[in-house]
Amino acid sequence: MRVAVIGAGPSALAQLRAFQSAAQKGEEIPEVVCFEKQSDWGGLWNYTWRTGLDEFGEPVHCSMYRYLWTNGPKEGLEFADYSFEEHFGKQIASYPPRAVMVDYIEGRVKKAGVRDWIRFCSPVRWVAYDEGSGLFTVTVHDLLKDTVYTETFDHVIIASGHFSVPNVPEYPGFGSFNGRILHAHDFRDAREFAGRDVLLIGTSYSAEDIGSQLWKYGAKSITVSHRTGPMGYAWPDNWQEVPLLQGVEGNTATFADGSSRQVDAIILCTGYKHHFPFLPDDLRLKTANRLAIADLYKGVVWVKNPKLFYLGMQDQWFTFNMFDAQAWWVRDAILGKIAIPGEAERAADVVLRIAGEDAGKDSHDAIHYQGDYVKELIAETDYPSFDVDGACEAFFEWKDHKVKDIMAFRNHSYRSVMTGTMAEPHHTPWKDALDDSLEAYLRD
Ligand SMILES: Cc1cc2nc3c(=O)[nH]c(=O)nc-3n(C[C@H](O)[C@H](O)[C@H](O)COP(=O)(O)OP(=O)(O)OC[C@H]3O[C@@H](n4cnc5c(N)ncnc54)[C@H](O)[C@@H]3O)c2cc1C
Repeated sequence: MRVAVIGAGPSALAQLRAFQSAAQKGEEIPEVVCFEKQSDWGGLWNYTWRTGLDEFGEPVHCSMYRYLWTNGPKEGLEFADYSFEEHFGKQIASYPPRAVMVDYIEGRVKKAGVRDWIRFCSPVRWVAYDEGSGLFTVTVHDLLKDTVYTETFDHVIIASGHFSVPNVPEYPGFGSFNGRILHAHDFRDAREFAGRDVLLIGTSYSAEDIGSQLWKYGAKSITVSHRTGPMGYAWPDNWQEVPLLQGVEGNTATFADGSSRQVDAIILCTGYKHHFPFLPDDLRLKTANRLAIADLYKGVVWVKNPKLFYLGMQDQWFTFNMFDAQAWWVRDAILGKIAIPGEAERAADVVLRIAGEDAGKDSHDAIHYQGDYVKELIAETDYPSFDVDGACEAFFEWKDHKVKDIMAFRNHSYRSVMTGTMAEPHHTPWKDALDDSLEAYLRD
């Protein structure tokens, strides 16, 4: 049996580790081939200064930027089979910068020895399913040799992420704006905007975090335009929330309440699209960014063809350990240890999940909803069980800390639900820590 995994970000790496852990226990596993379009693993966490197209002319996947620290506590995402303490030899502070996270992500898969399963610089161009043979044909571009080839597989697992292809709206006057307009996907370094008046559109994590970066690295003012209501935190004095942008003229931006401001740059924090240009209609997921995903039984099995799986396609409170829960479950479904029901039952499961999410009132319910999902999957495999409710508590504390002081929430510490150890407070408050290197973060 052959299994193709598309992508080598955290979700796909969870899948490789899941199969490797079964092999380690003496189980027979299929041949697993992982295709990754970038030249290294880590997905979004694999930072590049590039924007637009990469050295091969491929769309740049990275949406992360310099000085990015995790936007939620690490205690909510920790791997149950590989703790931060195991990796770093000690407990570390709760909001690691990107480079520290990359080190942690890599640590587990280096230990598992699965790098050889990955073909790098290998974007998947097309996947087709043949009813007759029951096999998938996967077409891949080997960018180093510049050749295109096909191989067949019994199963395909799509883990190509959904925070990379930007959703880019247009507003009147953009074509003649006298400054830079960019999407959050192309934002790389807050220092570029020091001393500038910057307008952000949107109220998602991108707006919150890019705005905070701009503040930290010396922007003159930050204006955030919202469609559905302000984020409502107690922002610093040079940060203002305004209603929806109506248009720009020269450098003047005008908002729905009739107010206007002079701005030097506009950053569109307007979200991302689930985008799968390598999939035909009958295999392609089309969904909003939500917790209960359309057309995926148990959040991972393609309802219309149970040999096809998707990982990490949900909107995310939980990340790495949820991807693990999914990957272990998918592994066991492929190994025949978990039975997948018929199409009607798969479709009914999706309807129930959507109703369950819709019944929630607020983010508190949403966190519990996703926590319950993680528990449900873990209960069906040998993924080490952990205190999921404890991780939910860390998320609730995190949200309270943000309300108390949005520019200081990263100074707090939480207890690991994997090892029971309390995190060390970081040696420098987030707003003063300008060096985001691994060495700077880990020094005592
Ligand atoms: C700005 C930003 C900040 C974030 N901060 C946090 C955070 O602080 N904490 C947190 O837990 N999560 C954070 N996230 C969420 C993030 O989604 C997850 O942490 C994680 O990266 C998702 O993993 P993934 O493997 O599903 O997708 P990705 O990380 O997107 O990886 C997908 C991989 O698939 C590859 N790929 C895509 N198309 C193809 C193709 N056709 N062929 C071959 N390979 C392909 C890509 O190159 C990439 O390597 C953040 C996301 C963004 C955008």
